[in-house]
Amino acid sequence: MTNDKGIHRRSLMAGAGLAAIATPFVSGAASARAQDAENANMNMADAPPSDSFPLGDFKLLVVEDGSRIMENPGETFGTGQDPETVAALLEENFLPPDEMVNGFAPVLVDTGNETVLFDTGMGPAGRSWGAGRLREGLIANGYQPEDIDIVVITHMHGDHINGLMEQDGPAFPNARYVFGDKEYAFWSDDARMGTPAEGGHQSVKKLVVPFADQATFIGGGDAVVPGITAMEAFGHTPGHLIFMLETGGRKLLLTADTANQYVLSLQRPDWHVRFDMDKEMAAATRRDVFDMVAAERIPFLGYHMPFPAVGYVEKAGDGYKFMPKTYQFKL
Ligand SMILES: [Zn+2]
Repeated sequence: MTNDKGIHRRSLMAGAGLAAIATPFVSGAASARAQDAENANMNMADAPPSDSFPLGDFKLLVVEDGSRIMENPGETFGTGQDPETVAALLEENFLPPDEMVNGFAPVLVDTGNETVLFDTGMGPAGRSWGAGRLREGLIANGYQPEDIDIVVITHMHGDHINGLMEQDGPAFPNARYVFGDKEYAFWSDDARMGTPAEGGHQSVKKLVVPFADQATFIGGGDAVVPGITAMEAFGHTPGHLIFMLETGGRKLLLTADTANQYVLSLQRPDWHVRFDMDKEMAAATRRDVFDMVAAERIPFLGYHMPFPAVGYVEKAGDGYKFMPKTYQFKL
């Protein structure tokens, strides 16, 4: 509402003009979707970036929990490679050689029966540097934390589990949990004390172990709910799981951290990555997973891919070329 009739009338006229132009081309459903998008935009002025799209009978909502600038991408995603080789590959792909942006993209899959959240972002631990915004993004898109039915953890690195807890307790108080059995066994084991995995072990004891009673422990081939199936993709961590979504004749693979830099790790899948705990196994897994994604020509969502983190790959040279999604899900 406004008392400024001039502005009000002008905006009405602009709206009418758009409607008149759009009418011959836009179906009822499409204009309803446009209205939804407009309403959502009004709530989202201060919310983190998010992207929502249908997949068969499911609806996916990707939220940018946060992102950070990392220096020297080659030291992480081309460990042991000649820096000049890394720089040349980045520059060939229109990217600077000395810095990169690494984002975090948890995804909510609304199956129509249940809301299934994959990974939880940085949570309170990220708020001081602008991350930990999953919660805000869910709320801006109409999902309260209490609405989340199932929280699935792909693997137990901090950027995936820190958002399980808020200051005052569980971040998703009505959820049940799905954890990889091998992943949980590794990180929760006191044998990690005194090893490089000790920090991770301590975090898992604080953030994950408290939910063990409400958790289902799964392995490759197990279903989370009908249409969502776990696959083993070990190497990044000892029990890293990825998830195939299959619904209404469509597929999408949630690849989690199988590949985490869209140029270096996809175009050079054999290059070693600092964060991959078993570097050879992770590289072999990258090939298996992205060979399949390329051969089946299905979309994938990678937690650290450029937001909204969804795209396709085609085989190119000795690796894969990433092609971000555009309008494929709107048609
Ligand atoms: Zn990660």
